[in-house]
Amino acid sequence: MNTGQPTVRHSLEPAADISSGRVLIADDDAMFRRILQTWLESWGYHAIIAEDGDQAWSILQHEHPPELLILDWVMPGIDGTELCRRIREQQRSPYSYILLATGKDDKRDVVTGLEAGADDYLTKPFDRNELRARLRVGRRILALQQDLISARDELRFQATHDVLTGIWNRGAVLDLLHRELERAARTKTSTSVLMLDLDHFKKINDTFGHLTGDDVLREVARRITQSVRAYDLVGRYGGEEFLIVLPGCDKQEVEQSANRIRLAIASAPILTASSEIPVTASIGATAASGASSASEKDLLLRADQALYEAKNDGRNRVSVA
Ligand code: GH3
Ligand code: MG
Ligand code: MG
Repeated sequence: MNTGQPTVRHSLEPAADISSGRVLIADDDAMFRRILQTWLESWGYHAIIAEDGDQAWSILQHEHPPELLILDWVMPGIDGTELCRRIREQQRSPYSYILLATGKDDKRDVVTGLEAGADDYLTKPFDRNELRARLRVGRRILALQQDLISARDELRFQATHDVLTGIWNRGAVLDLLHRELERAARTKTSTSVLMLDLDHFKKINDTFGHLTGDDVLREVARRITQSVRAYDLVGRYGGEEFLIVLPGCDKQEVEQSANRIRLAIASAPILTASSEIPVTASIGATAASGASSASEKDLLLRADQALYEAKNDGRNRVSVA
């Protein structure tokens, strides 16, 4: 589960992490490559060299390719415009900023290059200061792009996670349950659903205050998350109610899994700033085999009924539907 909140920067200055100063130089002219490399390194960039378009393309397929690219217009193999086209077709994130190096000062080449996806162009031979300034423009665009990506990631996180506990929120965990059931039907595997509700939680709030109640909810979420497998889904379903989806868990295993979670909560009192608070939970559990085609609505209803039973039978227990 990803609970790491991405941070948003608001700055026009290129951050140190933007493309970590790596620039790809793709050119078939060895002399030109050497000059460029010397300049770039004197400005603090790290130059990555490709001797033709094919080499450049294969470097760009790495997991973290350089994001600033200086591509020669004419190269054997894949040429500069074709590279631009392929890079844009892939639509990889983060964005690559492409400076196309043209040998001729022909406006038609420039138009073709920009239309193929280049962001900017320079005519050979380069003016040293102009190249430096244009690379700075590229870094500025990449920094803005990174800000947008971070902001988007943060919005996505906020839309799918519970603010208090950092686990999935109700909407997200229901979505994930829906997808999991579709997957289980295709692969004919089981899925278990647990509805967990803290026992006498109102009393905790009444005795220790709402803020302490919040601390307890956070710690319970942490204990649940720690007692399930990495691919199990844990969401906050309501106030002090949690929904846990266990992919691949069948009828035989569900009771044991639920009890492991129950014990993780009950085994030790929760330490808050003011006191040690013993907490227990009741769990309603249900399992669907891949062949059963149970809807999430059926499963939630069954889990909820089982939870009601667990409460009636005395709390701090698991009831399987
Ligand atoms: P039971 O064993 O039957 O489940 O009893 P209970 O007291 O846990 O259940 P009840 O539904 O009566 O009370 C749940 C309480 O949870 C009431 C509500 O104020 C509290 N609650 C809901 N959301 C939050 C929250 O975000 N923070 C805190 N501190 N309390 C919350
Ligand atoms: Mg309760
Ligand atoms: Mg409740």
